[in-house]
Amino acid sequence: MKIIVCIKQVPDTTDIKWTENNTIQREGVESIINPFDVYAIEEALKLKRTIPDVEITVLTMGPLQAETMLRQAIALGCDKGVLISDKKFAGADTYATSKTLAAAIKTKLQDFNLILCGQFAIDGDTAQTGPGIANQLGIPQITFVKELKECNNGSVCAVREIEEGLETLKVELPALVCVLKGIDETTRPKINGFIKAKNAEILNYSMEDIGLTPEETGIKGSPTFVSKAFRPEHNRGECAICKDCSELAIKIKEFGGISYE
Ligand code: FAD
Repeated sequence: MKIIVCIKQVPDTTDIKWTENNTIQREGVESIINPFDVYAIEEALKLKRTIPDVEITVLTMGPLQAETMLRQAIALGCDKGVLISDKKFAGADTYATSKTLAAAIKTKLQDFNLILCGQFAIDGDTAQTGPGIANQLGIPQITFVKELKECNNGSVCAVREIEEGLETLKVELPALVCVLKGIDETTRPKINGFIKAKNAEILNYSMEDIGLTPEETGIKGSPTFVSKAFRPEHNRGECAICKDCSELAIKIKEFGGISYE
């Protein structure tokens, strides 16, 4: 079984700063693998431990420095790293990002069974990229996944979080799954993992290599326009302590919420 895990390099900070073009300031900030993508890697590694002949490729679109993150994923137990990097990708919104990753999969990694993504990237946080890739490839998707229950060469079955509780879905492969924080501890790299990662060949493809034109990717291929980016003002008002539930219910009603007395 061939698994692709899409991973994104994100700033290692909750104090996000903006450039004058309203994009996230990435220079001068330490980077990490997006935490949800670490859980996506973990689900892939779990399958590798339980099913024979699983090959895991980690894929990212990003600057050349993102190669370090791909090597970290290989140190954890992934097999191959693919970096899609080109100055022409700059300014890509989620539509152009999904299109670019899907183009890389169609042209360079077409022999796959399962794609795993994180549910959100902690910087952009739109949760649109995974569903966008599935849409571009015309394959089924399961989002908000807590756990993969079963996966064989024909189908994948996953437990997903919904507002009312949990839902189990099964779809035919090839498919894409977006994962939330998993229930298992994440794997730590071992010394032989570091050696494998150091020597691994990372394949690097440009825009031309994956068959896209400048009009289809980067800022030109992005229909989103960010007019303003700002921090919401905190105006919490004064704190009130309620003596009992009925007083709390009245306060909720006064605040405009629905309360069941
Ligand atoms: P989500 O959709 O929340 O991510 C979900 C999952 O998708 C991740 O967990 C991961 O598995 C996968 N994923 C997401 N991104 C990648 C990736 N790059 N590679 C592999 N897997 C991935 N960002 C820049 O860095 N530089 C820019 O110049 C830039 N310009 C922008 C311009 C506009 C107009 C807009 C709207 C956004 C711009 N962005 C830029 C942000 C960029 O579009 C998003 O970071 C990107 O599309 C991913 O969206 P997200 O962060 O919301 O990820």
